[in-house]
Amino acid sequence: MIRLSAITPSGQVHLGNYLGALRTWAREGTDEDVYFISDLHAMTSSHNPQRLRSMTREQLAVLIASGIAPASVCVQSDLIRELGALNWVLECTCTYGEAARMIQFKEKSLGRESVRLSLLTYPVLMAADILLQGTAEVPVGEDQLQHVELARALARRFNHAYGDAFIVPTAVVPKVGARIKDLSDPARKMDKSAQNSAGVVFVLDDPDLVRRKVRRAVSSTEGIANLTEILASCTGKAPEDYTSRFADLKNVVAEAVIEELRPVRDRTLELLADPAELDRIRNAGAERARERAQHRLNAALRLSGLS
Ligand code: AMP
Repeated sequence: MIRLSAITPSGQVHLGNYLGALRTWAREGTDEDVYFISDLHAMTSSHNPQRLRSMTREQLAVLIASGIAPASVCVQSDLIRELGALNWVLECTCTYGEAARMIQFKEKSLGRESVRLSLLTYPVLMAADILLQGTAEVPVGEDQLQHVELARALARRFNHAYGDAFIVPTAVVPKVGARIKDLSDPARKMDKSAQNSAGVVFVLDDPDLVRRKVRRAVSSTEGIANLTEILASCTGKAPEDYTSRFADLKNVVAEAVIEELRPVRDRTLELLADPAELDRIRNAGAERARERAQHRLNAALRLSGLS
């Protein structure tokens, strides 16, 4: 059974990404799964090409350093030809009304003067990501359920109209996925694209910077709850085991975070210093994903009346 999930290189990988997603992908994933860097999705709003390239590389290194099987990791744009072809077929399966109904599109386009067309169509590309690989399960947060629902609808509609090409995927919402909040504004989730990074601990932050960020965390009830959640997630104990037992909670949290991230940070820096090894892993992952996609893509093109 293939599971597929992604991270968007719109910024550096942070503690929330690691505790909420990457660590679980590493612990529960199998070689069959697909974990990819969605660099094409990062282009749906204004982007800087050099930064996109370097963030993609950095995230690839972090994913591997987190212990995710290298064979299951790839970069989305390495499959751009296959995805582009399937994307067109799926755009011809999707209606404008369906795309325009997506809540994320409405939220992200609201009040903006210039909205890229790709912001409207990217859920179709996401369907292509999912369907191309023969994905059975897509672990997602609540906010992405509507997009997986669209992928299901497109798979069913295509299969019904032209013949079976696709597995109809299922969305799974992880049960107790940690939701890590911004340290300086615990009303918001920790976010790669936050305007101010003072409350965001990045996986590659050096230990002193982690200490400074955690010490400056707000001490409201929500702020303390977030810190105990982080501590629990780093040490594997339940949050209630920590209720205000530490006079110096922030120091304890900072050290736990530093220890949790240390091997990931060290290994990431090693990989980034060895571009040939990173390229080798990237090319092998792309090759594997492409091979797996080929027969499904060919079937979809043939059934659509192409080739
Ligand atoms: P994204 O940052 O949107 O590319 O998400 C990559 C993965 O990290 C997804 O599985 C998200 O659910 C997860 N994630 C993002 N932010 C957080 C957070 N603050 N806490 C826990 N998980 C998160």
